[in-house]
Order: sequence, then C-alpha cells, then structure tokens
Amino acid sequence: MTEQPHPIAEASPEAEALAAQPEPALDIVRRVLAGEHPTLIPKERMSIDRIHMVEQDAGARSANFDEVNLGLTEGLAFLEAERCLQCKKPTCIDGCPVRVNIPLFIERLRDGDIAGAADSLLSDNALPCVTGRVCPQETQCEQVCVRAKKGTPVAVGYLERYVADWAQAHPEALSHDRPARSGKAVAIVGSGPAGLTAAGELAKHGHKVTVFEAFHAPGGVLIYGIPEFRLPKDIVQAEVDRLVAEGVVIEPNSIIGKTFTVAELRERFDAIFLAVGAGLPVFMGVPGENFKGVYSANEYLTRVNLMGAWDPINDTPVLHGQRVVVVGGGNVAMDAVRTAKRLGAAEATIVYRRGREELPARAEEVHHAEQEGIRFDFLVAPVEVLGDETGWVRALRCVRMELGEPDASGRARPKPVPGSEFEIPCEMVVVAIGTRSNPLLTSTAPDLTVSEYGYIETDEHGMTSMPGVFAGGDIVRGAATVILAMGDGKRAAAAMDRWLTTGSAAEPEAMPEEQAVATEV
Ligand SMILES: Cc1cc2nc3c(=O)[nH]c(=O)nc-3n(C[C@H](O)[C@H](O)[C@H](O)COP(=O)(O)OP(=O)(O)OC[C@H]3O[C@@H](n4cnc5c(N)ncnc54)[C@H](O)[C@@H]3O)c2cc1C
Ligand code: SF4
Repeated sequence: MTEQPHPIAEASPEAEALAAQPEPALDIVRRVLAGEHPTLIPKERMSIDRIHMVEQDAGARSANFDEVNLGLTEGLAFLEAERCLQCKKPTCIDGCPVRVNIPLFIERLRDGDIAGAADSLLSDNALPCVTGRVCPQETQCEQVCVRAKKGTPVAVGYLERYVADWAQAHPEALSHDRPARSGKAVAIVGSGPAGLTAAGELAKHGHKVTVFEAFHAPGGVLIYGIPEFRLPKDIVQAEVDRLVAEGVVIEPNSIIGKTFTVAELRERFDAIFLAVGAGLPVFMGVPGENFKGVYSANEYLTRVNLMGAWDPINDTPVLHGQRVVVVGGGNVAMDAVRTAKRLGAAEATIVYRRGREELPARAEEVHHAEQEGIRFDFLVAPVEVLGDETGWVRALRCVRMELGEPDASGRARPKPVPGSEFEIPCEMVVVAIGTRSNPLLTSTAPDLTVSEYGYIETDEHGMTSMPGVFAGGDIVRGAATVILAMGDGKRAAAAMDRWLTTGSAAEPEAMPEEQAVATEV
C-alpha cells in the first residue's frame, strides 16, 4: 500500500502559509507541507515566499508575559529551509559574528535530518535557543543573504530557533563527546552570554570550569534584563543545566571584587575569563531625577524579570504607573515600555531624541511595540523631571528636537528647537539611555589595565594586562549584543586553551605549504 501524505489541517499555520504563497510555488509548497523532501532547482526555490512566524495576538499579549513569537511547526521549518539556495559563496556566514555554518544546518534540516542540523548548529553556537530569539538577524546574516537581493532573505533566525528548540527537547538525539580531563582549572567571572559560551567551550576541552556569578541566578542580561515575553527563562535555565550536566560548576552570590579579588582567584585557578558585562546604568543628568517614580531600566527590568515582581505572589515590589514614559530607543527601552504596558499602564510612551529611522532597537521589537499600542514621541528629549509636593513624579518636561549634521557615530545629531518645551504628564519615568562598566571588580584589581571609561583592555587574543586573565563581552566592548559577547567568549576560550596547553595564547603559525604536505604524507 502506498503511504498517503498527511493532509494540511484547516486553519493551521501550514494552511495559512499555503494560502499566502504565490501560484507558481503552490504545488511545491503542498508537497513539502505534506512531508516530502523534493529535489528542487534554484528557480523553484526562488518561487517560494518567506513564511511568517505565528505570533500571540497583540491585544491579548500586551496583558500577559507569555512569549510573543510562537515558533515554527515542523512543516513550516522544512518549507523555509527549501528556500535556501545553498550558495557556493554563502554570504550569510560572513554576516554572522560567530560564523555559524548556516547553509549546512539548513541543508540538513531541509533533508529532514533535524538531529544532524542540531549537531552542526550547536558546534558553532553555544546558545542557539537564545540567539534564534534575540539576535538582530536583519542587520547580520539575513541582511547579506543572497536572497535579500531579489526579495526577502531566508528566515535564518526562525530556522535557528526551530532547530535549537528541537535540540533542547531531544537531548538524547545529540552527539555527546566526553573530553579527556586536562587537569587544569579555570574560573569564569559573570554568567551572561560571554561567560556561558566560554564555560561551554572550555569544558569541551576537558578543563574544570567554575563560573562565579554575583546574582543568585545565572544568565546575566538573558535572565535579569530581557523579559520573559521575548526570551522565556526556562530556555535560559535549560542552557545553564546543559553546561552543569557537562561538569561546569556555578557559584552564585559570589561578587568578585568583594567575595574574592581577581588576584585571589588567580592563585586558585590556572586561567580566568572576566565577563562581567557593563550593567551600571547611565542617568539623564537633568533636574528632578531623584523624584520617587524614576527608575533606571536595569532596576525596573531586574525587579520584574529576576525578582518576579510581575507576579504579586513574589515579595519584590514594583510600581505600576498608569502613565509611564520610557526614555531611549534601544532594545532596553522597548523591553521596559512593553513591560510597563503588561503591568497595566494605560499610556506607555517612548521618548526618543531622534526619529523612527534612527531607532537602534531591533526592527521586530519596534514593530511588536507598535502593535501592542506603545506610543512613540520622536524628536523629543527630556529636560526636567517634575514632581509634586510629596516627592513623586508628576510629569516629564521635554523639548522638541530637529536633526542636524551627522555626529561621530555617523547618525544625524539632534539639536533642541528653541521655545518648544512641553510637559508629558506621568507617574513613572524609566531611563533607558545606556549603561557603562561597573568599577566594582576593576577597582580591586590594580594590575588590570582599563580604558578611560573603565572597560578592560585586552590584546588580540582577549588576554588582559594580567597574564592568564582574559576578558570579553560588554566589559571589553561597551554595551553591545548577545552574539558579539558570545563571539568573544568563544575566541577567548580558544586562546585560553592554547595558553593552558602550550603556554602561548597565540594561534600556531600556519605551516609553510611544502612542509604541511610532507607532514600529511
Ligand atoms: C534589557 C536588555 C535587552 C537587550 N536586548 C538585546 C537583544 O534583543 N539582542 C541582543 O543581541 N542584545 C541585547 N541586549 C544586549 C546584550 O544582552 C548584552 O550585550 C549581553 O548580555 C552582554 O553579555 P555579557 O556576557 O558581556 O554580560 P552580561 O549579560 O551583562 O552578564 C554579566 C554577568 O556578570 C555578572 N557580574 C557582574 N559583575 C560581577 C562581579 N563583580 N562578580 C561576579 N559576577 C558579576 C552579572 O551579574 C551578570 O550576570 C540587551 C540588553 C539589555 C540590558
Ligand atoms: S546566503 Fe542565504 S540563500 Fe545563500 S546559503 Fe546563506 S542563507 Fe542560504
């Protein structure tokens, strides 16, 4: 008896995807969604339109903390994978800061080998469940995908998330090589993406890894900053659990600089990686910032995410303003304003001194915020926080801005429009205009060279001025992105391994060609 293809259920994500496809692709799409893995020519692949991620309804989600993006079904993941052209020169890899072999994992997925896709993805990227959710793919791999030249790029981020979530749900299907013990012990300070990535890489080399974390829970910004509705905390915890299962030891509630100094750690460990992030909030420096009701975004998000203040069952309180103004235009500002909306704010407003085009937040976050009813006041800058006689915020006084010549960052410099001041009535102001390095660790490590802004300086291998002490992530670059922090963790781990095994962090010089051939023979 021939096997019948399974039908596409009515009103399913597959049925919606089929309905949205152009006529020439319909037959192929039907076959793929029915479970076939056909051999297609590039023209047929090009005929398939990019699929959409299913999302929680905007009205419903702006009142809950459940994840907004709901992921792909298997059929949709196979379909999107068919869009990849398997380019001879895969520009997508150049667009990825950790150089994930994107065509390889997509090819395996396309052929129905999800375990193979997961093995390939995980060998390049230690936290794909995270990066599949929070990376700005539209300015990285997807921006330079060949398909973006004539239409929409392959949805690399969606596919990464699909494969990574599958791997998290099927640990038994993955390859687990147990490395031989090296006999070396390394300390990682900070358990954000840089620290966790380095921990995983060093454990793979057989070193005994201990991660010191100031907070009671590991994960860094992934756990205390990025909200549940963008990055569920059980996903981050599962990544940490995987490392623990590989032998990594996590020491929470350990503030390096207070509990131990770097020099004390150096006596106990053969090498150290400093990945403490740049979590010290920057304030606006305008009058009235000390009124009750003004939060830094870090404090606000930490209360809600890490301390669970969104749920009244928990002890940590957080203010629930009816009218909340968030100052800033990055991911942190979007997270804060969408959190305020979910905590019941009738009016949740972003105040940003440049225009919509200049918003540094991920395009998807801005789009989601708009869908959820967030108000945006562009070309507006705060000049004073106004309070009432009891010391509570009552309004934010602002001035309108106009864009002038480009500044050092290349973006148009905003300048105030004289006489344009106005007030935005509110009960809460959240300041999300950036963070900088926290001197807690560096001020107790006089042998560490830091920049004038307090960031740790390293050489090209990630080694600091203290031999055997490496650093990476936001504490070296300044506030950046998850994937850049992970790239630093990966590179530093490779250099640390070399340093531990050969005494030099440098990569071995490439062998002259004739000698290499002779050795191979
Ligand atoms: C709210 C928010 C949203 C963001 N959204 C995105 C996004 O969507 N996409 C994206 O790519 N990037 C985003 N970022 C930026 C990204 O999260 C950071 O660039 C990244 O987390 C930096 O990683 P890291 O490992 O260097 O540091 P962190 O993640 O900051 O981790 C540092 C860790 O070190 C610990 N620590 C600090 N000092 C000590 C000490 N003395 N002793 C012991 N432990 C210490 C901290 O508690 C923390 O756990 C966001 C940032 C924030 C704040
Ligand atoms: S550039 Fe785009 S189409 Fe080409 S291999 Fe990469 S993801 Fe596939």
